[in-house]
Amino acid sequence: MYNTEILSPSPEALEKASGLLKSGQLVAFPTETVYGLGANALNRDAVLSIFAAKDRPADNPLIVHIWSVDQLEGICEVPEKAWPLMERFWPGPLTILMPRKETIPMEVTAGLDTVAIRMPSHPAAKALLKACGLPIAAPSANRSGKPSPTTAGYVYQDMQGRIPLILDGGPCQVGLESTVLDLTGTPTILRPGGITPEDLAAILGPVQVAGSVLRPLMKGEVARSPGMRYRHYAPKGQVTLVNGDEAQVVAALRKLYLQSEADGLKACVMCFSEHMEALRDCCPHDIGSKENPASTAHLLFDTLRKLDDEDMDAIYSEVVPAEGIGLAIMNRLGRAASFRTIEADSL
Ligand code: AMP
Ligand code: MG
Repeated sequence: MYNTEILSPSPEALEKASGLLKSGQLVAFPTETVYGLGANALNRDAVLSIFAAKDRPADNPLIVHIWSVDQLEGICEVPEKAWPLMERFWPGPLTILMPRKETIPMEVTAGLDTVAIRMPSHPAAKALLKACGLPIAAPSANRSGKPSPTTAGYVYQDMQGRIPLILDGGPCQVGLESTVLDLTGTPTILRPGGITPEDLAAILGPVQVAGSVLRPLMKGEVARSPGMRYRHYAPKGQVTLVNGDEAQVVAALRKLYLQSEADGLKACVMCFSEHMEALRDCCPHDIGSKENPASTAHLLFDTLRKLDDEDMDAIYSEVVPAEGIGLAIMNRLGRAASFRTIEADSL
């Protein structure tokens, strides 16, 4: 058991964090996407302790974080197509799968021959990576099955006693995890995230999106990104998505909320800022402006965490179009809801 410290990323705290990483310990740190739980990616035992702290299944590989492209040489082969992407989107929320070199332990890649690599843009993440000089394996700093943490407080909720140090860089700007891109064949988005398909297509030409992004895996279907097998981002309550015309959706949310309350359930709605007033008697939770999907991305995990803390049984949510950052939002919302969707005009 650790007495988990939370420190803002001062030069002294960064030095302490860097020392912990070098000695094989875990440190949680902010990135622009969500908080990461870092360990020296070259140290097998340190990597194994990430899986233990998170209760993460061993077959779900980790993302390795770097601060300089000079570090690539020691850890992977770089596909030709990756260079213009790194040039354009690094540092930033894009993870690229690259053929692994032997230096990266199998535990990091869960036995796969590719390693997922990203260069974060958050100043504290950059400073930490530079200070320790190591490639850092870092999945999201939540316990497995919980929404990814977007504040140091949420990391503490999940990791208290399990790790020595959390660096607190305030709330994460993007709020959803990075885009995971496979370049081994036709470029394919395995997990949508902060960099959109449209952003990538502008550099790469046509980009595919893995089939299981907006639906459950089919029986016998192999997940190209192992993380997609798990029911991540799942709050304790039952989430239902409500689709349709704006006015009908607002009416449907009210109806569903009232029905659940009448059934003795603790219910709430997740709605756009524009509908907070109209749904004020339906325990509304703000998921940002309809006009600004980035605000919804920013608030989504925070809202799902709050609903867990409030022990909600039934959660009814509005949806966004699955384009741009909306694809990543609908992937996370869809999975939180086990893809359970109601058409507003069917009620
Ligand atoms: P997290 O660390 O929580 O952001 O999760 C990392 C995500 O990247 C998971 O969905 C993993 O399955 C995926 N990932 C990491 N490495 C690979 C890889 N080599 N091939 C495919 N997916 C990967
Ligand atoms: Mg995660």
